Amino acid sequence: MSFIETRGNDGVKESEVTFSQAILSPLASYGGLYVPKELPVLGLEFLEKHINSSYKELAKDTLKAFKIDIEDSLLDEALSRYDEFDDSSNPVPVVKLNENLYVSELYHGPTRAFKDMALQPFGTILSSLAKSRGENYLIMAATSGDTGPATLETFKNKSNIKVCCLYPDGGTSDVQRLQMVTEDAKNLKVIGVKGDFDDTQDALKSLLASNEFKEELDRRDIKLSAANSVNFGRIIFQTIYHIHSYLELVRVGRIKIGDKINLIVPSGNFGNALGGYYIKKAGVPIDKIVIASNRNNILTDLITKGEYDLRDKELIKTNSPAMDILKSSNVERVLFDKFGPARTKELMDSLVENNFYKLTKDEVEDILSDFEAVYCNDDESEEIIAQYLTNGYLMDPHTATAIKAYEEKNDQMLPYVAYSTAEWTKFSTTISKASSYKVESDKEALELISSKLNVKIPDNIDNLFKKDIMHLLIVEKTDIMREMLNFFDS
Ligand SMILES: *Cc1c(COP(=O)(O)O)cnc(C)c1O
Repeated sequence: MSFIETRGNDGVKESEVTFSQAILSPLASYGGLYVPKELPVLGLEFLEKHINSSYKELAKDTLKAFKIDIEDSLLDEALSRYDEFDDSSNPVPVVKLNENLYVSELYHGPTRAFKDMALQPFGTILSSLAKSRGENYLIMAATSGDTGPATLETFKNKSNIKVCCLYPDGGTSDVQRLQMVTEDAKNLKVIGVKGDFDDTQDALKSLLASNEFKEELDRRDIKLSAANSVNFGRIIFQTIYHIHSYLELVRVGRIKIGDKINLIVPSGNFGNALGGYYIKKAGVPIDKIVIASNRNNILTDLITKGEYDLRDKELIKTNSPAMDILKSSNVERVLFDKFGPARTKELMDSLVENNFYKLTKDEVEDILSDFEAVYCNDDESEEIIAQYLTNGYLMDPHTATAIKAYEEKNDQMLPYVAYSTAEWTKFSTTISKASSYKVESDKEALELISSKLNVKIPDNIDNLFKKDIMHLLIVEKTDIMREMLNFFDS
């Protein structure tokens, strides 16, 4: 299957590319994104066929339905990365909290957040493609805490790929920082940047736009790719678990194949929700996809009012930092799917020029046929954490935004699957706060929660505190390029 561009073709780039091309060079004409030319059909027959499949069998058949130009053996190798999850036979446990609420836990991979679901297999594929073409790629990431660790972990010691990860010094949790600075591999570079996440992201953007940096990369024959969810190679792996969640509800007897369910997705860049949307369009009986946000509720305004308005918005720091996003990249892929390339370009151009766009009434109705949206503030998510803890379910603050959405939306009609996107261990100080425990550090919070609630700290988190720090560098924004060149030439 070929891939086309959300904002149409500029006459310079190829107008249709393969999956491999789309993931190696993910930026399309006019700053757009690549999308599949058609979606596969994954209807009731596909669901019946996979009722007894393992996660990996389901995954392989789903990927093959997209008819991508990746050989079976490489798909198998990529999917084998799910063997590193807690339970290799079921990397995504779906837990029943009540008759109408099931939680699909996406955090059982090596870095304890949902980013592993896609980044682990994606890393294997990207590195293998680069190697077979004899090309070298640089992946750069600015991270507020979850993407960085998962990107480093997936590309660690992989050939033909170098990764540089920038994090705001003092702007991540201790666990997230340790997950990055203890990674030990020659192809990885981790740099703390003086400033907050916005400064870090700006620094990365200006570096990527600089001609001097481009020339330095060209001179070394290094190409740039990307591992964030603008890359369709991430999105494709984020379709599978939506089908898996549906099948799990069938397996436990809560629904029959053909019955509808609702999904609730804690959202930032909209990659997770987009996977659910594609699966709904492909034929899996999903009624609504509920977009849960924190106080950075730009998606709530878009879906309920049709307005994407950045003019009076400032980013607010919340207890769910992976959702502290105002420019949500993957919304564009939904706009394209519904309204086509010309309208998508018009809307996205307006966002660049005016920091604003507005959908028509009909367009909003169209969006509302698939999506609903709600948001909550930090106090509300902490209340949810405390309330569900009394019933024995421990969740992180991102997951809490989804559970809060369930409490608001549940009308006793259809069952809901809410996604849990991070393990409690990554945000233990927030959980301590929600439980009115006083703690000074992540380590203290981890140990306190572990002993009070009798839950185990997974080894890959516990061991972080014993590992050597491999990346000590903390620099001013202006020094990043020099450090990168040192890294290439070392
Ligand atoms: C990345 C992330 C999200 C947001 O997912 P998107 O696909 O960007 O919408 C939510 N929760 C956690 C914990 C994350 O790491």
